[in-house]
Amino acid sequence: MGALTPWRPQTRRGFPRRNARENRAVDIVDKATRSRMMAAVRAKNSKIELAFRRRLFAMGFRYRLHRRDLPGTPDIVLPRHEAIVLVHGCFWHHHGCHLSQLPATRTAWWRKKLQRNRERDIQVAAELTKEGWRVLTIWECSFRKSGVDRERKLDELSQKARDFILSTRKRQQIPARPVRMNESVQSRGPTR
Ligand SMILES: [Zn+2]
Repeated sequence: MGALTPWRPQTRRGFPRRNARENRAVDIVDKATRSRMMAAVRAKNSKIELAFRRRLFAMGFRYRLHRRDLPGTPDIVLPRHEAIVLVHGCFWHHHGCHLSQLPATRTAWWRKKLQRNRERDIQVAAELTKEGWRVLTIWECSFRKSGVDRERKLDELSQKARDFILSTRKRQQIPARPVRMNESVQSRGPTR
């Protein structure tokens, strides 16, 4: 408020501000383009989240959204069932599946940044569990598959989420583990 506000490093979600050199290094596109790109990613994810939420609502579940009083501001909170549903984008949350491949340029920088996101997610999930919440994580790759009808996939995922919400399971991820493109091809072959 005062005219002399002491400078201090700004933090976003608990991470120290990137230094100017790092910012220069990553800005291959100009600021306007980058913010358009980021907005597009957010819009796409929230669209899926919305479609998913609508299904849960239709099943009779009532929830709170983006509760800031909980660690990590979780997407969907169902207090009655002490359950939380997170819809994670595979790239930003560093899933390890075929959708989360690191960019070919500045790979080390991206790896470090995304690994930090991943570590934060793990920490947040641990804190939520400690507070008595049960946490379901639905990864983007579970509904973003070529040749699969999006609506049907979302119906199927909503059923799985329903099962989790009504269960006593502490933690579940869909898919159970990250699947890489070549693994999913191999998995069509005989198993032994
Ligand atoms: Zn994934």
